[in-house]
Order: sequence, then C-alpha cells, then structure tokens
Amino acid sequence: MQKIDGKLVAEKVLSECKEQIAELKGKGITPGLSVVLIGEDPASMVYVGSKARKCEELGIFSHKIVMPTESTQEEVMAVVEELNNDPAIHGILVQSPPPAHIDEEAIVRAINPAKDVDGFHPENVAKLVLEDPTGYVPCTPAGCMRLLKEAGIETSGAEAVVIGRSMIVGKPMALLLMGKAGNATVTIAHSRTKDLAAVCRRADIVIAAIGKPEFVTADMVKDGATVIDVGINRVKDASKKSGYKLVGDVAFDEVAPKCKAITSVPGGVGPMTIAMLMQNTIQAAKFANGLV
Ligand code: NAP
Repeated sequence: MQKIDGKLVAEKVLSECKEQIAELKGKGITPGLSVVLIGEDPASMVYVGSKARKCEELGIFSHKIVMPTESTQEEVMAVVEELNNDPAIHGILVQSPPPAHIDEEAIVRAINPAKDVDGFHPENVAKLVLEDPTGYVPCTPAGCMRLLKEAGIETSGAEAVVIGRSMIVGKPMALLLMGKAGNATVTIAHSRTKDLAAVCRRADIVIAAIGKPEFVTADMVKDGATVIDVGINRVKDASKKSGYKLVGDVAFDEVAPKCKAITSVPGGVGPMTIAMLMQNTIQAAKFANGLV
C-alpha cells in the first residue's frame, strides 16, 4: 500500500510556484491575492491566516480584508468591485461561508472571472466543462488530480467513483476525471444513491467528498483500489489539548490495507488545496500581463 504524501507533493507544487514567481518578478510583476473575510468564524480565520502566510512565504502580495459580521450585501459588493479594479490584485476570494444574510452566489458572480482564482464563477465553471485552459480549476479537485498523477495512478480507462456532488469538490472532480486529463469512466454518487457500497466497490479510484467522519468503510472498497479522502471533519478527542482531532471521510485504518494507494487526513488533500490556490494566483498574474 502506497500512502500518498500530500505534504510532499504540495511542496513540489510550491517550489514550482517559487520559480514562476521569480520569473514574474524579473519582469517587474508581483502576483497579488486578496482574501475577503466577513465575520469572525474561527475556522475561516484559520484558513484565511494560512493562505496569507503561504503568500508571504512565496513572495505573493497578500491582501487581507476583514469585514464585520453585520456588513451588508452592498458593502461586500463594493469591496469586490474595488478589488476587481485594482491592478495590483490578480486573484480575489471571498472566504466561505459568509454570514447567513449574505448572498454568496451573488458575490461569486460579482468577482471578475479573470480574478476568480477559486474557479467558482459561472464563466470558469463553463470553461471547466469546455476544457478551456483559460479558466481556473477549483483548487481541491485540481489538487486531487495532481496527487493521482504524482502517485503514478493511471486514470485513463479506470472506473472512478466520486462520492459527493458539490460545486466545490464533487462536480469539478468528476469533470476533471472524465475529461481529457483523466479519461476515466466516472460515476457520481450522492445521498440518494442506491446501494452506495456496491457502486463504490466497482471503483478503481474512489474520491470521498462527503463531510461525514470515516464514512467509507472497508466493505465499500475493492482490493487494489486507490482512495483519495477529501473530507475534513472535527471529532471529539479527549486526549488532544484542543479536545478534538481531524479525520477524513474514510475509515483509514480499515480501508488502507486493501488499497493500492490512499491519502490520509491530515497530510493528504489539505496541503494541496492551498498549493493549487497559489498556482491559480500565479496563473492570474500571467493572464493579466498577457504571458499565457
Ligand atoms: P457538501 O457541499 O456538504 O457536499 C457533500 C456531498 O456528500 C453532497 O453531494 C451529499 O449528497 C453527499 N452525501 C452526504 N451524505 C451522503 C451519504 N450518506 N451518502 C452519499 N453521499 C452523501 O461538502 P463539500 O464542500 O463537497 O465537502 C466535502 C468534504 O470535503 C467536507 O468534509 C469538507 O470539509 C471537505 N473539504 C476539504 C477540502 C480540502 O482542502 N481538503 C476542501 C473542500 C472541502 P447530496 O448532494 O445528495 O446532499
């Protein structure tokens, strides 16, 4: 069994990013990423902080805007508009989830698609479907594809089952696997899928993006399958100082022995998401300067 090391692959992506940033800086261009946080959701604050730190480490200009929870839709839209027009900012993301009174979809649609480094704007979703390389691919599924590639897992002709159909993970993941980059035969499963275990057992590659701790068990995975665990779930753990630990959507200990290759949580997909965000931001700086 091969444990796919997401940290190691992410480091490789980040070192490629560093080279590209040095090249851009040689041309007088500094990629810039702006992250907008509305409210003080503790998990979101951690995510935003780690994105900003990674930018600083790499030499990407990082711009963090923290707006109060009670900010209105108009105020958030005005900030997005300002960033759309700021030439020093190549990538914009609004940290999800915003407070309940904010219409997140309207915010995503207001971001200039050329700066939508999350790849959530309808124009970028369409480009993903069309396999148009001028769009941005959502970071988490892009990271999963890179993990499969680096681990030497053949996707072409493989049976892949993606569990989950969100716009952030499941749907773009399925599109990537079935597209020319993946050439897999893809099944998308969700909460209404009948006999999920039998569907999963068909798979050479299982992508778990459900949001339920240790949901995928050994009886759902065939011998020799590759399993990519996207899930990040907090479960209580009295032995930890924080009182909780992070687990994936896959029961790692029982599934891993059956696998050809598998990712763990933490240390699997998580580090890849941020690395791919850095890559998308560099891509945005290149697009803005006519370099691709
Ligand atoms: P989501 O929007 O809640 O989607 C979950 C999907 O799982 C839905 O399509 C849902 O089906 C399906 N599902 C729920 N219960 C199911 C069941 N019993 N059987 C089969 N399918 C079921 O979640 P998400 O945003 O895609 O995220 C999924 C997980 O990935 C979460 O743990 C999240 O924290 C994690 N995540 C990690 C990263 C990372 O960087 N590693 C990034 C993003 C997300 P329905 O559509 O029918 O409801």
